[in-house]
Amino acid sequence: MTRDEPEAKATAPDEEDEWQLYATAGYAAAEDPWDDLVPVEEEDSADEEWFDGDDFESNGQTVDWDSPPCPAPLGIAHMIRLGTCDHCLHRVGGRRTEERGAAGGAILRAEAHSRDRELSEFEAPDLCPLCENLFDDVENIVTRIVDQTGELDHGSLQVGVHVPKDLIAEEDRLRTRHAAPGSRPLKAAFSDAVQAGVATRMPVVTFVKERPDLMILIDCLTLRVDVDIRPVFIYGRYRKLDRGIPQTRWPCRACRGRAEGCESCEGTGLQYPDSVQDLIGEPFRLALSADDTSFHGMGREDIDVRCLGRGRPFVLEVKRPRIRRTDLEELMHAVNANAADKLEISDLRWTNRSEVSRVKETRAEKSYTIRFSVEELPEEATILEAISGLSGVTLEQQTPKRVSHRRADKKRKRKVVSIDNILVDGSEVQFSVRCEAGTYVKELVHSDEGRTAPSVASVLDSPCEVIWLDVEDIHAD
Ligand SMILES: [Zn+2]
Ligand SMILES: [Zn+2]
Repeated sequence: MTRDEPEAKATAPDEEDEWQLYATAGYAAAEDPWDDLVPVEEEDSADEEWFDGDDFESNGQTVDWDSPPCPAPLGIAHMIRLGTCDHCLHRVGGRRTEERGAAGGAILRAEAHSRDRELSEFEAPDLCPLCENLFDDVENIVTRIVDQTGELDHGSLQVGVHVPKDLIAEEDRLRTRHAAPGSRPLKAAFSDAVQAGVATRMPVVTFVKERPDLMILIDCLTLRVDVDIRPVFIYGRYRKLDRGIPQTRWPCRACRGRAEGCESCEGTGLQYPDSVQDLIGEPFRLALSADDTSFHGMGREDIDVRCLGRGRPFVLEVKRPRIRRTDLEELMHAVNANAADKLEISDLRWTNRSEVSRVKETRAEKSYTIRFSVEELPEEATILEAISGLSGVTLEQQTPKRVSHRRADKKRKRKVVSIDNILVDGSEVQFSVRCEAGTYVKELVHSDEGRTAPSVASVLDSPCEVIWLDVEDIHAD
């Protein structure tokens, strides 16, 4: 493929985006949920006006569904009757207490009991209707998180909580009706409690709402904790000095790249032993103790095409790295020493996922040198004039035969920006050409049976055969 443009195929919805949705769904933003709560007041006669009688007094076991919302004492009493746990009582009670969390709820409960003796005799349900006793599992979950992340190199964590939908709906209904205005919703409150627990056990971590080092997903139904080690990204440029190296890892055609390989790939599972991806990626994978890499180039060149000049921009994605930082200069030298005469990298820096799409979507002009043989050679002056005449023209290129099995058959217009350095050497000719992104350069020479017009073959009125092609520059970054 000489087609030098970003991969056209649509990418699946980004894994990271899904996580982000998961993680932040239902979160109140950064506002302080305690801002608008009323301070604890001594019980006074004003509270009595909430009391509307009947139902409440008739029998100690009756729940008054018309009670006012918290922070009214009757609202708090109502939540206690419903079986609200200490943690949720504090969360929805709307009162400031000396302690927070369950301890704060216990204070509110004790106050309510001292106001109303019958309340202490009331047999409330065991299961908290607001959280189904989820807060009892906080310590357990914190321990799982600490156990699963202890060995990893990380600074920032993002917590995502999955709570069953019906619990969310029921909690929302009760909270809307009975809780103090501004009460923290279950999911956010639970996430806060887990983060507070983790923070006491792992004081160096920070919690973030985007681009974490580690994504922690908690399933509240099964109490399962999944730790997703987020990838790291490195930007750089590569020069491919040798022909016969594909840009990305290419699985063996015979065995489809299975791990143990086959006879035809000598057990490697690879069609070509080297790839730009692995020549760069493997030293990174080892240094960062990672699982795998993905390679994102600003376009790609054919296997048999070198890439020279300043090289081609790329972003290397290193997946599930146990180590997140290393000396890039040192690794660059290691890659270059290991890949001597095949490949060279430069301009390394740390980056993030957003640069992957930037690099893939950039449509840069490219400069090439191409050498080819001419079957029926005209006079040198004629050759020079005919080829120079293609400088500045707009080509019409129908999808080349060689790629038509995987690309739509379309006609595209591509501009030849300039042509120079035309050299005639016996029956071989060579020139430099700068053209628009997405130009099929080999086809510009041999015409692909007339699918590219005009072409060198058409202006020389002779079949031409490409000998080699080099990318000389990618005019970007
Ligand atoms: Zn609860
Ligand atoms: Zn094989």
